[in-house]
Amino acid sequence: MKKKIVIINSIVVFVMLILVFGLGVLVTKNNNLENANTQVKTLTKVYSNYYKADTNIVVSEQDIRVTIIDKNGVVLFDNVNDFSKMENHLEREEIISALSGENKTIIRNSETLNKELLYYAEKVEIDGDYVFVRVAVPIQTINSYITKSIPLMLCFLFIIFGAEALISIVLNTLALKPLGFVKNGLQSLNNGNYKPIQLTKKDRELNELFTQINEIGEKLSDTINTLNDERDKLNYILNHITNGVIVIGENGEVVLANDNALKIFNITSQIVGKSYVSITDSKLVLDNIQKALQENSSLIFDFESIDRNYVATFKNIEKGFYILILADVTDSRKNEAMRSEFFANASHELKTPLTALRGFNDLALLGEKDETIKSYLMQMDKDIKRVLVLIDDMLKLSKLEHTKAENIVSVDMLEVANEVIEELKPKIVQKGLDISICGSGKLKANKDDVFILQKNLIENAVHYTEQGGKIEISIKTENGKKVFTVKDTGIGIDSAHQTRIFERFYRVEKSRSRQTGGTGLGLSIVKHIAERYNASISLESKIGVGTTISVFFNK
Ligand code: ADP
Repeated sequence: MKKKIVIINSIVVFVMLILVFGLGVLVTKNNNLENANTQVKTLTKVYSNYYKADTNIVVSEQDIRVTIIDKNGVVLFDNVNDFSKMENHLEREEIISALSGENKTIIRNSETLNKELLYYAEKVEIDGDYVFVRVAVPIQTINSYITKSIPLMLCFLFIIFGAEALISIVLNTLALKPLGFVKNGLQSLNNGNYKPIQLTKKDRELNELFTQINEIGEKLSDTINTLNDERDKLNYILNHITNGVIVIGENGEVVLANDNALKIFNITSQIVGKSYVSITDSKLVLDNIQKALQENSSLIFDFESIDRNYVATFKNIEKGFYILILADVTDSRKNEAMRSEFFANASHELKTPLTALRGFNDLALLGEKDETIKSYLMQMDKDIKRVLVLIDDMLKLSKLEHTKAENIVSVDMLEVANEVIEELKPKIVQKGLDISICGSGKLKANKDDVFILQKNLIENAVHYTEQGGKIEISIKTENGKKVFTVKDTGIGIDSAHQTRIFERFYRVEKSRSRQTGGTGLGLSIVKHIAERYNASISLESKIGVGTTISVFFNK
């Protein structure tokens, strides 16, 4: 800035000096020309008078040329040249002007002398006749004067220019000094250790400006400090939450990643600002992020990294940002696996002695005559049977959790529904229920899975529909999905329970469920089978009106 000002100042002064110098030269040149004019005219007068008195002219000054020309143009005298050899001069401009009486000076290159001369002639009357007296002064004299003055002028010009440049530097340094204070103040603000600008004692206007800058600086410094505190707090919280958090911008660049996220993906280098593809090598994670970004949708998926299990939730959090939350589920998955292993083992261990117990009970029942003991034994048989059903359901659930669907075949859903109805016929008849079935459809699945699913739903409809009620079973294809629906006119389920009835052992009325031989696991088994086939379940129910449960299979 300072340099620029000095350079511009210097250029301006230099140009001005050149102009002044040029003007000076022009004025001097004009002055000198004017002087030469006067000189040549005066000399012409002097030599005219001289000639009138004495025709033998003597010219003492070397620079001056005097020529006498007669009325016919013949040169009578010339102090510089051999006039006898000189050509006729009647056509010379100065002679023509002298003849006409409008004398004027003429600048011309003298062919005889080969230099620029200023000519002037006068008509001089002598004894009734006349001649022309012409005087010429070399112009070079004037130009050489100018040429001589150039070095001096140049010297003068450079001294002035140098002095100006020096003054300019000093003045600029002084003028720009306050800017240096402002610069230091702003720099300290930028570095986070804001120091106000020191006020000067001399300049009131500058002090006003500094005070205003200081006020703005203080406000900015406060704001920056508050923002930094907030950012630190946020970083502290982010880095101390157990989940990994990565925020991705709409162009796929990483905006933020907390410590846990870096640990999960074993990231050691700077990741913020880079594309999300540099987060991990896991194709599963990258494909899922790409898909969610393309579809602008949310996603939940499981993945493994460094021998640990994670559930990743990818969500659009508006304003063009997406958040990837990584929850470590390794321990809970282990506990869950242990729990369900225990569940399966305990069921197995219980089933054998209970089956034996039932056998012994049957034997005891056969030989027993006493009616009271017989009734106890019959109650015992009923309870053992119920526990065995419960154990069967528990084993079914455990199997569903730990195995994948096998023996996938094309299952005719209508055929399976008819088999279920056949099995449940005694109860249906006993309750006088009006059961109907419509539609048909095939499903690629394990036949046992389809049977268990349909049985649990139809059996519930039978259990929870009062005497003489109606059950409608329908099988149809809707929006490319196979839909199996059981609709009853039973007791219905209160909305408060509707979200929970798919949980294990959750029963709205325990006593009623027990009476019907329910285990509280039926709908939980239905949910697990549906999950196995990526099917979704819908439930509509109203107390006293009835319940409709549908399962939507993708294929
Ligand atoms: P349960 O063996 O007790 O029937 P489920 O898991 O099959 O167990 O059902 C859970 C609970 O949901 C039942 O105890 C019952 O209260 C309620 N429920 C299920 N189906 C129906 C239905 N069709 N109508 C009314 N209530 C039902």
